[in-house]
Amino acid sequence: MNDPGFQRSELHSLLELQRLDSEIARVRQAIDRTIKDPDVEARREQALQATQAAVAAKERLAKINHTVTWEEKESDSTRAEINGIERKMYGGLVSSSKELDQMGKRVEQLRVELGLHEEAGIAAIVEAEEATLHLDQAVKAQDTALDRLDDAETKQNAAGAAFEAEVRALEPQRAARAAQVPGAARSRYERVRASCGGVGVGALGRDGRCGACLVGVPVLLAEKVRAGRLEVCDSCGRLLVRSFEEERQ
Ligand SMILES: [Zn+2]
Repeated sequence: MNDPGFQRSELHSLLELQRLDSEIARVRQAIDRTIKDPDVEARREQALQATQAAVAAKERLAKINHTVTWEEKESDSTRAEINGIERKMYGGLVSSSKELDQMGKRVEQLRVELGLHEEAGIAAIVEAEEATLHLDQAVKAQDTALDRLDDAETKQNAAGAAFEAEVRALEPQRAARAAQVPGAARSRYERVRASCGGVGVGALGRDGRCGACLVGVPVLLAEKVRAGRLEVCDSCGRLLVRSFEEERQ
């Protein structure tokens, strides 16, 4: 591909632009990994389950306490009814023996019911004690799970903020570099970079290979590149420029 030829500083800036873009992409990937950190996700799931367990334990205790109260009320009203009947029976106001007999049977029946309510009440109190212990444990487990999640999220946020700061520091460098690359070369670079996995240019290595795809570059093409022309790699389609490695050493 023919081009007007570029100054070495322009080609060098193109490679530096690629270096910065790769660096920014690397940091952005690190941000993504941080956001999707499986450890944080696992702790979030554990905290959710622990919270659900605590809510269920609280609801269960409330239900049992309701039963305790209900059985106590039933026992109290049954006792009151028994007392009322007995006052009448022993108050000398009822003379009919048939009526007295019926009242006696009613009292007997009520005593059976009272016994059942008292038994159910005691059973509910025992159950409430067990449910209270269970709730304490569930709340402690929830606190632990929430603390662990909090720690993990704090670390996650700190790591994310550090990576974001890295990107913010790199972006102006990238913009400054991009401004040093001639417009036509820059738009070609951007096009190729968008379609080639984020790498738009490769440096021709001393071994005669494209720095992006590592495939050997034909001798004639390599000569043009070494002469300072912006060419295209036959193998990967990326822009190909001379390397400045030798000059740095
Ligand atoms: Zn290549």
